Amino acid sequence: MSRKRQSTFEDLADLSARLPWWAGVALAVISFLILHYFAGIKVSVGTGPGNFGNSISKQIWVSLALFGQLIVPGAFSLGAIVSAIRNRQGNTLFSNTSKNPSAVAPRCSVCNSVMVIRTVKRGSKLGSQFWGCPKYPNCRGTLPIKDA
Ligand SMILES: [Zn+2]
Repeated sequence: MSRKRQSTFEDLADLSARLPWWAGVALAVISFLILHYFAGIKVSVGTGPGNFGNSISKQIWVSLALFGQLIVPGAFSLGAIVSAIRNRQGNTLFSNTSKNPSAVAPRCSVCNSVMVIRTVKRGSKLGSQFWGCPKYPNCRGTLPIKDA
């Protein structure tokens, strides 16, 4: 027989893997505290006829909570670990691909200052950009911007 759907455990782990790792950890702690609270409720035998059905359903919930206080936080913790690993891989990828474009600014051929991007304000090349010396107008060094 083929499995048609994931178990609840896998569903929860998958869910928390999509969240930030710290959210998975928080969910694990919160779910444990809530379920631990329910698991600790004393099931009192009903004193009247109306309480009988109530205590039966309470007993079911307490049994579920006893089971769930181990399973649910476990699933969330697992998801948090998966999320943390994915996050680390993502960060590595990001730092490898991003480069600071200002690091490629050339130096002025006249006075050796680090040049800045300037825009042509008049003439036929109006609006085009070039490297200009920051000491303009005292230094008139310029360089064309090479297309990367
Ligand atoms: Zn210069």
